[in-house]
Amino acid sequence: MKGREDGPTFSGRVKEELVRLPMGKSCCQLSEIQAMTQTSGHLSFRGRGRILVQYRMENTGAVRRLFQLLKTRLGVSPSLHYTQTRKLGGRRTWVLTLGEEDSRALLLALHMIETDEDGGTTMKRTVPRHPLTRQCCRRAFLRGAFLGAGTVSNPEKGYHLEWNAEDDRLAETLVRLTEKSDIPAKTFVRRGRQVVYLKEADRIAGMLALMGASGSVLEMENIRIKRQTRLRAARAANCDEHNSEKMLDAAMRQAEACRNISLQVGLFTLPPALREIARARMEHPEMSLTELGEMMEPKLSKSAVNHRLRRLMEIAEGLE
Ligand SMILES: [Zn+2]
Repeated sequence: MKGREDGPTFSGRVKEELVRLPMGKSCCQLSEIQAMTQTSGHLSFRGRGRILVQYRMENTGAVRRLFQLLKTRLGVSPSLHYTQTRKLGGRRTWVLTLGEEDSRALLLALHMIETDEDGGTTMKRTVPRHPLTRQCCRRAFLRGAFLGAGTVSNPEKGYHLEWNAEDDRLAETLVRLTEKSDIPAKTFVRRGRQVVYLKEADRIAGMLALMGASGSVLEMENIRIKRQTRLRAARAANCDEHNSEKMLDAAMRQAEACRNISLQVGLFTLPPALREIARARMEHPEMSLTELGEMMEPKLSKSAVNHRLRRLMEIAEGLE
């Protein structure tokens, strides 16, 4: 799901915009790193308190941003390579790996581990601190989590934005952050995983703006307007079609009546004014009354054509 949304899709364009934003304040940088770590980071324990951190991401822009954030904020130098999974249509996954020292520096900065007096390491259950108290960091965290585990549907098709939460604690955190930002999200469980989501167009636009994707908000607004215009046009077109269907029905009945007159008593029995219009109607059942009137010599008004056709209908009825 994640990878397919990237590229030319709306979700991919939102991410392209987000990864180009300035890194921001030092507190925000850490908050964004923390969000990416909680959504895309994996810890592996190597014994004697040694821990390695590895990130797996499909979005190239996002992994590049994380790389920059780690370098800028923590001075660490991760290694980057990618794997290609054959079963998922050759999709590319970026793998960003931190060495032992760098992993330790990162986890200490994020308060995910503590060092005790003997130099040993203890893991901590962390909830982000700054994002819960600072608005600036809240935006950075929601952005980082979106880059790591978020998607938003194309506004042409519907309104849905979600974060695929790695665990329940992250889901709780995201819900709390959206509530504090006055754009409360809901959750549901998909394949055993918590999904934090927003549905309404206004809330999604609000969230995109909060994360810093103001260009995407504009694009969404434009699509919304186009969509409404198209709906209105489609409704109007249906109306026209409906009318012309009715008109065609009436024209077919008129042509039929003229044919009956022609077969049963002959058109020559009609007065010349009626004879002409009867011929024209039989030849052109597709024409509107106005168009038929234009064909006559001299031209006839729509109401005159209508009047003559009604007379013809009466004559045909009298024959039966
Ligand atoms: Zn901040």
